[in-house]
Amino acid sequence: MRVRLEQGLALRGHGYRGRYAPSPSGALHRGNLRTALVSWLEARLAGGAWLLRIDDLDTPRLVAGAELQILDDLRWLGLNWDGPLCRQSERRGLYNSVLTAWRRAGLLYPCRCSRRLLADVSAPHGTLNVYPGFCRGRQLGWGPEQGRLPSWRLRLGDGELRWSERLAAAGVLDGPSAVGDVVLRRADGFIAYHLATAIDELDLGITEVVRGQDLWSSTAAQVAVLRQLGAPPPRYAHVPLWRDAAGQRLSKREGSEGLAGYRARGWDGPAVIGDLAASLGLVAAGERLSADELLEELRHQPGRLAAVLGRALKP
Ligand code: GLU
Repeated sequence: MRVRLEQGLALRGHGYRGRYAPSPSGALHRGNLRTALVSWLEARLAGGAWLLRIDDLDTPRLVAGAELQILDDLRWLGLNWDGPLCRQSERRGLYNSVLTAWRRAGLLYPCRCSRRLLADVSAPHGTLNVYPGFCRGRQLGWGPEQGRLPSWRLRLGDGELRWSERLAAAGVLDGPSAVGDVVLRRADGFIAYHLATAIDELDLGITEVVRGQDLWSSTAAQVAVLRQLGAPPPRYAHVPLWRDAAGQRLSKREGSEGLAGYRARGWDGPAVIGDLAASLGLVAAGERLSADELLEELRHQPGRLAAVLGRALKP
């Protein structure tokens, strides 16, 4: 395991390696497509690699056919990825070996707090984001009790969690007061997103993560896992989310429109790329161009993409 993660660290020395990591919980909506386009553009502008990882650990949320649809959509838009597709569901052995080693080393503890209990203690201010550590010092077993397994939490050390952001000020959150002990294995037995994602960024040698702004605060938990793995975090760019006319972010669950909607109106690839780019102000509304043509345009305007994204992030 250590050797594998060290190889990942060494891979980082070979230049820009980005990734796009959709969850196959539905078809990509316009906002997801735009983030994929931006992530691809950034990697290609840097002459780097762009990997595609499918975050398919949360099996109850998977939608049949969604993975295939995602791959088709990316291909249709001309967003080609490098190397073999990576599926988190095929990497459970790696995640479990980290969990086992950390459990043996006393870095994790079992937690039996239910979501409802945590919601109650956080009332009246709504959801509690930082775990108050109720189970930290309790001598609890790891096995099932009353038919329920515990979740496994990482004992977070003191200090701040820091990471660099390419489009905004560096991220920093205080570990104990703003992040808390992160769940790495859920009570339903599933490997948690933060654990798998942090291990993958390292194992796949990712140097740059370009993803939606909604994941900004998740970064701290992932940086905590990376710190425990002994690795510095990659660099992050959290890009603006596409909002509808009412200012709401789009959602797969609510069936926000994706390529199917564009196609139903008879749009082809260049029309869609033009629309995604125009929504950021990269090209004029109504312009048609392929992903490769957009890339070529941006090659002649160094720094433009980052400047546009940075401006869009300003409140
Ligand atoms: N799979 C996550 C999602 O689709 C994103 C993961 C990431 O980019 O870190 O929201």
